Amino acid sequence: MLHFISKCFITAFENFRDNNDFFEKNKKMATPKHKTSKSRRNMRRSHDALGANSYHECPNCGELKRPHNVCPSCGQYDKREVVAKKAAE
Ligand SMILES: [Zn+2]
Repeated sequence: MLHFISKCFITAFENFRDNNDFFEKNKKMATPKHKTSKSRRNMRRSHDALGANSYHECPNCGELKRPHNVCPSCGQYDKREVVAKKAAE
């Protein structure tokens, strides 16, 4: 019985929805209330620029390498060899 009553309510709602254009009128996307000015846009983008990569001298061979990375030329990190040198060298 309860199931029947709830079914009636659902049918009534569906009839209301189909005969009412309230739902049709509100099929819009959310839109900003105000235009973002050039000033505000540029202020927002003030942190977006990419910085230059930093390089440090390798304490073993003196080549430039990225900090906190294994040296690509000698394969050392923290004064010990981590990656074996290439056989050609
Ligand atoms: Zn090195």
